[in-house]
Amino acid sequence: MHDPERALTQTRREFGEHGGVCPSVERSATFTVLESAVMPEIFKGIRGPDKDGFFLYSRHFNPTVDVLARYLSAMEGTERAVCTASGISAIATTLLQICNGNGHIIASNVIYGGTHALLADMFPKYGIETTFVNPTNTAEFEAAIRPDTKVIYTETIGNPTLAVADIKALAKIAHAKNIKLVVDNTFTPMMISPAVLGADVVVYSMTKFVNGASDVIAGAICSTMEFAYELMDLHNGCVMLLGPTIDPRTAFDISQRLPHLAIRMREHSNRAMAISERLQELGAPVVYPGLSDFPQHELLASMLNPGYGYGGMLTLDCKTVDKANALMDYLQNEEDFGYIAVSLGYFDTLMSCSGSSTSSEVPPEDQERMGLSPGLVRFAIGFTGTIEDRIAQMERGVKKVGLV
Ligand SMILES: *Cc1c(COP(=O)(O)O)cnc(C)c1O
Repeated sequence: MHDPERALTQTRREFGEHGGVCPSVERSATFTVLESAVMPEIFKGIRGPDKDGFFLYSRHFNPTVDVLARYLSAMEGTERAVCTASGISAIATTLLQICNGNGHIIASNVIYGGTHALLADMFPKYGIETTFVNPTNTAEFEAAIRPDTKVIYTETIGNPTLAVADIKALAKIAHAKNIKLVVDNTFTPMMISPAVLGADVVVYSMTKFVNGASDVIAGAICSTMEFAYELMDLHNGCVMLLGPTIDPRTAFDISQRLPHLAIRMREHSNRAMAISERLQELGAPVVYPGLSDFPQHELLASMLNPGYGYGGMLTLDCKTVDKANALMDYLQNEEDFGYIAVSLGYFDTLMSCSGSSTSSEVPPEDQERMGLSPGLVRFAIGFTGTIEDRIAQMERGVKKVGLV
């Protein structure tokens, strides 16, 4: 059984040049060779980062970025990872690489607003069409398959309604038709290992839980060795030639935070569970995957790596934008419960009204179809403060605005 925390601990730890407990940061843009004859061999791929540690230029591979990539691939159970400047560039380059200039994508309709815009608004201009389906209904994906379908795309736990996709079932229908399954695991690192469940490529916005400090933008693509090198191909590689290069200093920062990702995920989950249970007792309209009445609770439980809980995301449907805003204003300005901000995976709680913020790229009729209420407040529960204080603050909040 794949245990991401153990796998991460067991992978070779990188030390600093002088025996430092932290790895050194290789900031060079370019790399020398001892003999000029070696250079053409690197260009031909005879030598390279995974062949005796030969590096060329940091838009291609960089040793510090590769330390992070090695840790991530251990965590995911994939052969390789490629890090990028943002989550959205990890998604865009992965899909462009697989589609190779044309074709059809079947995507969950419960996805990050930026990804929705990429697929619905931008990709059609470049010859790539997308059909959106309900992620909780595997049969809808299967029914949408066309001869030119190249990718099935979903998030493990969808943003923002928390709809859960059946990764194993999707892998099965995809692979029967030679289609690639790409999964965005941003909400559920450590908790779920999509590649182990059958996904071909796992993408991350590391901006969120993986980094955990809300101080960098970064992304990752975890895949086979072959796909990683396709992305970095000097003639056709979408990461190499579109150039969303991560800075080695950012990669270093993230690699220093991966060792406590497991601890953080457990604590995000503990807090979100405790707050959700109290909200449920009070009769508030809370949705949290860890509650037994969550529609895909069993399915999610069957996919989880044990010991990390059900994640840090919960929603409260306030029905109207006014009530949602009143709740967020109260919780931030009267209680210091958390901050009104998009994003997630921070150590403090972040809250936003999804319909008019991170999912505003999704048109109103599509928001309705995906079950997104205009008054839905998404909470990314942090782990600062005591649990007792946080529960009491939330309780006063929902009472104040009349949710219970
Ligand atoms: C934030 C987010 C992205 C985009 O990532 P960036 O790092 O902001 O580019 C993609 N997918 C999900 C699920 C996200 O939450």
